[in-house]
Amino acid sequence: MESKKPIVVFVLGGPGSGKGTQCANIVRDFGYVHLSAGDLLRAEQASGSEYGEMIATMIKNGEIVPSIVTVNLLKKAILSDTTKNYLVDGFPRNEENNNSWVDTMKDLVDTKFVLFFDCPEEVMTERLLGRGLSSGRTDDNLESIKKRFNTFNTQTKFVVDLYSKENKVKIVNSNRAVDLVYTDVKSIFGSINN
Ligand code: UDP
Ligand code: MG
Repeated sequence: MESKKPIVVFVLGGPGSGKGTQCANIVRDFGYVHLSAGDLLRAEQASGSEYGEMIATMIKNGEIVPSIVTVNLLKKAILSDTTKNYLVDGFPRNEENNNSWVDTMKDLVDTKFVLFFDCPEEVMTERLLGRGLSSGRTDDNLESIKKRFNTFNTQTKFVVDLYSKENKVKIVNSNRAVDLVYTDVKSIFGSINN
């Protein structure tokens, strides 16, 4: 009997759209493992990796780290326990990320759909500046935020459109209170049949 592959759900949306917050709720109620690509990259950088300087510079500038780095980190995490299902948060951010994911992971996981959080830029900016007061992140300042929006609009939306054409995007309006957003998220995950 063929063993069941891990389910992967991509969680996308602009910076500050609520991806991390909602992922924590999904983990609690549906048993997924949360893999934030950004967190994995920050950990890789902090570990003294040969890519550390490149990662630090690219994050501050809102640029997308080459997929060779990111996909390897994701792959390692997922293959460490193939009995689990995974939320891959903040990835794939561009076509290159996505091609490399398909090449590397196609046969290893079941990439189910994209959960997309839709939120106006003004609202995301307020949230990120608020978070910046305590996050210690090098990219939660107005200059970096503008660059992150630009990258999102010119590269990440393209990937969302690709999955949209395959009817694989579930859009949630995240310009609402966390609990209200989660009501919609919960109903999406409650209706997935494995
Ligand atoms: N990043 C990247 N590739 C990824 C995920 C993140 O290069 O697959 C970098 C990119 O520079 C991004 C930053 O890490 O702007 C922060 O990403 P994160 O997802 O943590 O930020 P969020 O969108 O959640 O605010
Ligand atoms: Mg995040």
